[in-house]
Amino acid sequence: MIVVMKVGSPDREIERIETELREWGLTPEKIVGKHKIVMGLVGDTASLDPLQLKEISPWIESVLRVEKPYKKTSLEYRHGEHSNVVVATPNGDVTFGLNQPVVVIAGPCSVENEDMIIATAKAVKAAGASFLRGGAYKPRTSPYSFQGHGESALELLAAARDASGLGIITEVMDTADVDKVAEVADILQVGARNMQNFPLLKKVGAQDKPVFLKRGMSATIDEWLMAAEYVLAAGNSNVILCERGIRTFDRKHVRNTLDLAVLPVLRSLTHLPVAIDPSHGTGIAQYVPPMAKAAIAAGADSLMIEVHPNPAKALSDGPQSLTFEGFEDLMQELSAIGKAVGRWSTVPVAV
Ligand code: PEP
Ligand code: MN
Repeated sequence: MIVVMKVGSPDREIERIETELREWGLTPEKIVGKHKIVMGLVGDTASLDPLQLKEISPWIESVLRVEKPYKKTSLEYRHGEHSNVVVATPNGDVTFGLNQPVVVIAGPCSVENEDMIIATAKAVKAAGASFLRGGAYKPRTSPYSFQGHGESALELLAAARDASGLGIITEVMDTADVDKVAEVADILQVGARNMQNFPLLKKVGAQDKPVFLKRGMSATIDEWLMAAEYVLAAGNSNVILCERGIRTFDRKHVRNTLDLAVLPVLRSLTHLPVAIDPSHGTGIAQYVPPMAKAAIAAGADSLMIEVHPNPAKALSDGPQSLTFEGFEDLMQELSAIGKAVGRWSTVPVAV
């Protein structure tokens, strides 16, 4: 349920209403929008009468029920206002959100050694990326495949952060690793295979670092939003949704089917920013640039792209990884589309 305040509502009255709502056993969450203040109500609202709640104050404009099963994740909960996720990085704050410059995240599938991660960090930064990606813990289909270097790779990511000033995003697979990963990462990634790992969602929801929530490969949009709801319900509203391709009937030519239609769909359902990963979305390096461009044209707030110094030798996901040159060329092409839609930062990143 949400309480919409009238324009110009006095702060003291809002505080008084908050106190009264708490007495009703509800937890009000104040959302200060561009035009209005809205209070999201968490708690057992099913039996409450909106009209009765409205009686609390003449400054209440309306009390509305959120009809969707996902509450805090819904666009209604913020009364139609999209939210930004602001992430602190050594180079300053980076904002993911509607109408913000597109945030580019790039780096290898997995962190292999110090030289490659530092070289990749410097190369993607020079080309204009704001975040370095790289897996320390890898979810692999086969237990015999490279599983990631774990804790030692986290140290290498920290070194790459120091060397480049880029923010770090890396996947956490196990609840037991959340604190350790959060010490190094500026954003925690929850991978496609863990999208419905509810204990993990609760755990990342109970800490402060933003969460990059990939869509499960067979998850519906509603299931994905309900997964995000777990993180928001646990107290962390800094969630970025990432489409990374879904399973369809044809996997002969592409690894997954990149569902770009989620961009307009999610826009109308949720206030959360949306990223697109054309690397896992197609599985083939050659197909990454066209889909990255399409993603920006369709309104993506962020892109995640796999880049490797020598894709042929990569320990994971080589076929879908761009070379440094390939990434630099792509960034040039993306800047044209980004500028055309008014969403490209022309401010050089500080060294
Ligand atoms: C990854 O980002 O390397 C990864 C494993 O992604 P996903 O969870 O989308 O497969
Ligand atoms: Mn990968």
